[in-house]
Amino acid sequence: MGQHSSASVSRLLGLDGFQVLAAQVVGGEWQLEVQTTATVIGCVGCGVPAKPHGRRQVRVRDLPIGGRPVVLLWRKRLWRCREPACRVRTWTERTPAVRPRAVLTERARAEACRRVGKDAHAVAAVARDLGVGWQTVMRAVHEHGTQLVEDPTRLEGVAALGLDETNFLKATRRTPTRCVTGLVDLQGGRLLDVVADRTRGAVEGWLGARPAAWLAGVGTVALDPWRGYASALVAPLGHATVVVDHFHAVRLANTVVDQVRRRVQQATLGHRGRKRDPLYRIRKLLLTAAEQLTERGRVRLRAGLSTGDPTGEVAAAWQGKELLRAVYAAVGMPAAVVAMGRFYHWVDGVGVAELSRLARTVKAWETEILAWHATGGCSNGPTEAVNLLVKKVKRVGHGFRNFTNYRLRLLLHCGVTWQTPRPANLRGRSPRLVA
Ligand SMILES: [Zn+2]
Repeated sequence: MGQHSSASVSRLLGLDGFQVLAAQVVGGEWQLEVQTTATVIGCVGCGVPAKPHGRRQVRVRDLPIGGRPVVLLWRKRLWRCREPACRVRTWTERTPAVRPRAVLTERARAEACRRVGKDAHAVAAVARDLGVGWQTVMRAVHEHGTQLVEDPTRLEGVAALGLDETNFLKATRRTPTRCVTGLVDLQGGRLLDVVADRTRGAVEGWLGARPAAWLAGVGTVALDPWRGYASALVAPLGHATVVVDHFHAVRLANTVVDQVRRRVQQATLGHRGRKRDPLYRIRKLLLTAAEQLTERGRVRLRAGLSTGDPTGEVAAAWQGKELLRAVYAAVGMPAAVVAMGRFYHWVDGVGVAELSRLARTVKAWETEILAWHATGGCSNGPTEAVNLLVKKVKRVGHGFRNFTNYRLRLLLHCGVTWQTPRPANLRGRSPRLVA
């Protein structure tokens, strides 16, 4: 390769302080012979200009070029101090771009972290693209990702805090299903953290670690209707308005509709729901908000209930769910109180056990449910969105065994702001080339 093209290739590589001496494709990979451009360097011990002392070649992988993995053959320089009194004799050159004994350049490690974290790509896929092992990628994700996640400014500016329980691991033969609690910034729509277990202590510990000014900034807390959370909040967030948001209340009501459907299914047909069973066929329609149903959906729902629900209990549970939704849909507090009365009245009238249990939970959380209206209906969208992202990360990770890994992956995916430069639009206006 000539002088001229070498300079171009060096610019193309764009690795600060390095120049490319030769480039060739070997076994489907780019092999780039590189060296640093530094020619004068002071001794690390005494500062006297050092003397070159030969070179040693090291191999390190970098970002792919044109879809091919890249190996840099770095002709690493050795230096020697020429000052006889100096204790330092020889040393090899160092660069921030490549850590000593690293398999990957720092920028390739950062990119590995971005792909696994931000894009939720599988670690194995990223490892394959870079031509390294799974462990190498995971180490890069840990080192680069931990810095991003532990950055204290990441948690700044939270006015509405959402707490949500999410399944961490499905039960296996040896361990029960484990849950974690997700803490969400309801206004920014980002995941703040996840803590192991759905216990009071876990949330308490997390809140306890926040500075007083941070806690004072939180005016609203939206949560899953579970007592443990509320008591954990009392001391550190006693000033905040506690709200049971729409998302959690409807999820609870949907669970009840499902329970009643399964019980009636078993009682009428003597088996669990199968593809052709009328109730099984409308299981999703039953959970759809009434106003979201299409005309065809409404017809199917009615038909399914008329054949599969002879006692009308599933229909009663469905109506109960819709009446609870109406509490949230009501405009203003007085209307919400009236809607709440309608819900209780309905539940008392139909006498469906699962629904009565729901009404008792609603009663216990009535203040927090109605408070939703006092806070101007704090949004439940973010919790829902974060829940979807959590599912995605779980799917890509094929189930996590390690909580630290799981937390890191989740926070990198939905709790960190990634700075990605925007590429120029190729079809946009650009200066015309003059021939
Ligand atoms: Zn020296």
